[in-house]
Amino acid sequence: MTDLSNGVAWMGGKIIPIADAAIPVTDWGLTHSDIAYDVVPVWHGAFFRLDDYVNRFIASLTAGRYDIGIDRDGIFAALQEMVYASGMQDSYVAMVAARGRNPVPGSRDPRDCANHFYAWCVPYVHIVKPDAATKGTSIWIAKSVRRIPEDSVNPRVKNYHWGDFTSGLFEAKDKGFETTLLLDHDGNVTEGPGFNVFAVFGDRVVTSDHGVLHGITRSTVLEMCVEAGLKPEARPLPLEEFWQADEVFMSSSGGGVIPVAQVDDRHFSNGAAGPVASGLRKRYFDWIMRDAYRTPIKAP
Ligand code: PLP
Repeated sequence: MTDLSNGVAWMGGKIIPIADAAIPVTDWGLTHSDIAYDVVPVWHGAFFRLDDYVNRFIASLTAGRYDIGIDRDGIFAALQEMVYASGMQDSYVAMVAARGRNPVPGSRDPRDCANHFYAWCVPYVHIVKPDAATKGTSIWIAKSVRRIPEDSVNPRVKNYHWGDFTSGLFEAKDKGFETTLLLDHDGNVTEGPGFNVFAVFGDRVVTSDHGVLHGITRSTVLEMCVEAGLKPEARPLPLEEFWQADEVFMSSSGGGVIPVAQVDDRHFSNGAAGPVASGLRKRYFDWIMRDAYRTPIKAP
């Protein structure tokens, strides 16, 4: 029997091992990074906030004019069938719309492309290893590159345009940091590869409201803050203000709330995970088990 435990893809209605999943070299998804996608976590046998992730994906399809020939119920069914087939209880589940191939050689008309949908899942991804996340990770603010302006590539449409992030990651890794954070052209803090960023000032918890993906984990954090008696604020976050924070943390579907102990040469919360971030991290792993947010994996 085929081993599906390393990952599975759903392509054209077929379930195949991840290693066999491929798209053609002339697909605009490949040649022009022309893809809208989303990633929903599966934790202990259930999707978390599945409706919210699929709603964001469908909004991305509309904004990007992708016609993938499969509706919301079809997307739900494909994801369910795929994760069930994988046997995984904890998984990183991607749903993807690619622009596809243009049947007219050399054509530059995006309307002619054959858009298509596929999905894939692999074991759950922690963007920062849990041990390092619990202690507080490190971030390097990219110096050579700024976040792509939102009037050039809309960051709320989850996309594959990682040129800016990849440059920042080379800087960060060369300097021994875990990951990178990008500023916008006005010197505000935006986001990093796969995460939103928060700064804590007393009981106020601030995150950028522009130039960023509106992360589902970010929304969860904003809601958890209210439950925890904290005051969430979504607004521009200038770098000068960011440096004054008591604590910094990241949010991602790949690991929830991730405390940050160091940004460049500045140590936050005495170079450890701060109490607010640690409390929200714990709360996230409680919320991800709440029945109201869970869609159990079941046989098709
Ligand atoms: N920002 C970017 C650029 C991302 O790619 C991601 C997730 O991959 C996030 C933020 C966090 O979003 P979410 O909480 O929905 O995973």
